[in-house]
Amino acid sequence: MEIINHVEKISDEIVNALKKFISINSVNPRAGGSGEKEVAEWLESYLKTLKFDEVKRYDAPDDVVEYGFRPNVVALYKGTSPERTIWFITHMDKVPEGDLSLWDHDPFDPVVKDGKIYGRGAEDNGSSLIATLFGVKTLMDLNIKPKNNIGLVFVSDEETGSDYGIKYLLKQKIFDKNDWFYVPDSGNKDGSFIEIAEKSILWLKIVTEGKQAHASTPNVAKNAHRAAIYFAKELDEFLHEKYNAIDEMFGRTPISTFEPTKKEHNVDNINTIPGTDIMYFDCRVLPQYDLNEILNDVNKIKEKYELKFDVKIAIEVHQMEVAPKPTPAEHPMVLKLKESVESLRNVKTFVGGIGGGTCAAILRHESLPAVVWGTMDHTAHQPNEYIRIEHLIEDTKVYAHLMNNL
Ligand SMILES: [Zn+2]
Repeated sequence: MEIINHVEKISDEIVNALKKFISINSVNPRAGGSGEKEVAEWLESYLKTLKFDEVKRYDAPDDVVEYGFRPNVVALYKGTSPERTIWFITHMDKVPEGDLSLWDHDPFDPVVKDGKIYGRGAEDNGSSLIATLFGVKTLMDLNIKPKNNIGLVFVSDEETGSDYGIKYLLKQKIFDKNDWFYVPDSGNKDGSFIEIAEKSILWLKIVTEGKQAHASTPNVAKNAHRAAIYFAKELDEFLHEKYNAIDEMFGRTPISTFEPTKKEHNVDNINTIPGTDIMYFDCRVLPQYDLNEILNDVNKIKEKYELKFDVKIAIEVHQMEVAPKPTPAEHPMVLKLKESVESLRNVKTFVGGIGGGTCAAILRHESLPAVVWGTMDHTAHQPNEYIRIEHLIEDTKVYAHLMNNL
């Protein structure tokens, strides 16, 4: 088939483009990085050499970077008789490299080894960004125009809430309610998983205040750490017991999860009773549950332990994202993707949900249909992040095939 052969033919070009993406440090500025400006400029100038009908920048003002904005790049390839635009949304920002000593190579100097490309952003979200871009380029090279418009969107700020990325673009009213949205930002190893739903997210910070004293004199202290331990134990058991539904749509983790995660430093020495204790819960809740009901339960249990240990416990909500309604499994955009994946690969696809949260959830909140797909080994946010070249090239074929059918 012409399209497939062409992707094979340009595979070096595709690999080089991903290496270029990795080599630009576009770490999210709210995570301490320098932001997306340089990568956006590179993409914009490259897109302008291709046959797009429109290439536009939408810069969201943001003082966190000295240049004062967060770029978003939108490119349109017009169809022959469009009923809608079909958007492919990927993000330009990356998470920080983390502990450098855990990396075998410089995270921003891509290394090709054993059929893999290593570097920060290789999987998240570089591979899909490049694969969608070269999916369109394949059609352009072969002078193929699809029926509907194909839109590429490269957003900023996906890793820290999307206020300057997809949320900003939604406010610019560039999308139509009839449009479709593919968000290739998650997936599994053989590309069989099509994501149509995400869980609700609730992040809690729990601050317990007691009274600090010498460890030999608990009678004059109020041990905040002990109160927090007992409170967390009951909270953990209670939430798991009450919110115990199973929804097979969520595959390997078909339940609500309530995880005590971060614990802040308290005292430096063993012989001091801590007067303050700070810990966090990361809760990923099945869409059927009401997050406010969970918060009420948390507050009731909290009161019990305030009384029991004579301490003050403050519950701060750090993130609260109510899960939107899933994109229907029978939606034509799901079926089209299924058809492309299954006709190019020897896999049977299945639809389901994940713990969250991608740009797709934000779009679904606006009642826009959004589907997440990709082929990857799950190395995002880790040291030695990589993507298999095979996955990069095979995904490009799927996008070219899909775009040709849209
Ligand atoms: Zn991502």
